[in-house]
Amino acid sequence: MQQRIVFDDLEIGEIAVELDDKEPQDVIAWALETFGDRIAVVTALQAEGMAVLDMAYRLRPDITVVTVDTGRLPAATYAFLEEARRHYPEARWQVLTPDPREVEVMVRRHGEDLFYKAVPLRLVCCHIRKVRPLVRALENLDAWFTGLRREQWASRAAIRKVELDHDHGGIVKVNPLADWTKEEVWDYIRQQGVPYNPLYDQGYTSIGCDPCTRPIQPGEDDRAGRWWWEVNAPKECGIHCPIETGGFEHEAEAILKEAEGIHL
Ligand code: SF4
Repeated sequence: MQQRIVFDDLEIGEIAVELDDKEPQDVIAWALETFGDRIAVVTALQAEGMAVLDMAYRLRPDITVVTVDTGRLPAATYAFLEEARRHYPEARWQVLTPDPREVEVMVRRHGEDLFYKAVPLRLVCCHIRKVRPLVRALENLDAWFTGLRREQWASRAAIRKVELDHDHGGIVKVNPLADWTKEEVWDYIRQQGVPYNPLYDQGYTSIGCDPCTRPIQPGEDDRAGRWWWEVNAPKECGIHCPIETGGFEHEAEAILKEAEGIHL
């Protein structure tokens, strides 16, 4: 088994400065060389993640790709997942699913569509269905590729191309597209023939679970179609930044405790 590769803040800060003006492919090449099997592309199969996957696959076809089937994805996304797997057949695909006991307890306590009732319950749902499976996967990695871009949302404006992920054990988070615009992502996708979720052609600009995503209206922000009914809430699920809204952790803990008692 490959040894763990660990950096401290100072080291990764220096590398981030070196890589800041480099092309995404150079950042990906550095990460693949540095982390070997201990890095994966973690993606919800959105445009940015597909571009990163495509670049990584060209350098290393057996790259590990981690994605989460939350159980509530749009039908088009399930079909697209199969298309992506066919397009990148040598990649090691890991399709994660939430713990069925945790989902069962959550739905029993709050209903299937709890996310519409209150922001804290939406965050509970994201935590159980999406964040927890991902956190379990990250525990086995030393680094992960994301498709984050600085211009996507205020919480992402300061990301660097490589940074320590203190929310997930201090592993390294690699954001090769940090300084790319949306146009650059789509130019790459079209020029390189990268497959993309067909919902983009129906006015969607950011794609998550089916009940929580809709196409945007002209003039709206690209993430406006995510959890569109919420006011002054973070348009994040909690995997990329700690949620400071508060109020959901207590209920999430209660659900996990109750789920522990269920034997499948
Ligand atoms: S996006 Fe919606 S359905 Fe999906 S995990 Fe979050 S709250 Fe639940």
